Amino acid sequence: MDHFNMIKEISDGKLYRAEDMVNAGAGGCKNCSWCCEDMCDSIFLDPYDIYSLCQGTGKEYTELIDGDYLEIGLHKLISMPHIKDRGNGCGFLTEHKRCSIHDFRPGICRLFPLGRYYHDDTFSYILQTRGCKAEVRDEVKVRDWLEIKDLERYEEYMLKWHAVVKKLSGFMMKPAEPGVKKRTHELFLKHFYEIPYDLSKDFFLQIYERIEAWKRDCNSQMLCL
Ligand code: SF4
Ligand code: SF4
Repeated sequence: MDHFNMIKEISDGKLYRAEDMVNAGAGGCKNCSWCCEDMCDSIFLDPYDIYSLCQGTGKEYTELIDGDYLEIGLHKLISMPHIKDRGNGCGFLTEHKRCSIHDFRPGICRLFPLGRYYHDDTFSYILQTRGCKAEVRDEVKVRDWLEIKDLERYEEYMLKWHAVVKKLSGFMMKPAEPGVKKRTHELFLKHFYEIPYDLSKDFFLQIYERIEAWKRDCNSQMLCL
């Protein structure tokens, strides 16, 4: 089955852009917190999520890890932080089953039940038909559903980030000398997550500099990505 046919299996088969209307609205998730309780280990975080979480919570990345909110897992064979399942779901979920960080929640939380489908050097949004427990879905504009400031710049960044992940994931699939993959994981985490972002400065400029610095560092350590 080709990739688009696989996407059709899990979605309504349509591709959406930011200005399109889509039946994604979960009606405020009334009495439901299923995805916050059951999906945490699959909510992987990109650098923009970390920047936003640090800004919103006032905590540093290492505090979020040490505080049991996040943990490192393998996403597409790459070490990456994700929301930690504490046994009863995400640590940002309140006792009333609401998200305590709604304004700066991660990208995957913003998207769901939407997803992204990357194709032809761009991506489209898809509507996943499995997962969300809402019985009735409202029609919403994709842009409004995401509530992401500066969406055009964010989308441009997502494409560049996807290219980094794809390249690294391809590298991780190949055989390598002992220790090489461990070093590759460490460099990735250091450049994109562990070195603190300057929260007073624009994220997008910082990430593009970091992508270049990461590539230089990989080359200098003979990691041929
Ligand atoms: S960050 Fe918020 S929306 Fe995302 S899983 Fe946790 S509680 Fe749910
Ligand atoms: S499963 Fe759907 S309705 Fe339930 S919390 Fe998640 S998005 Fe909201």
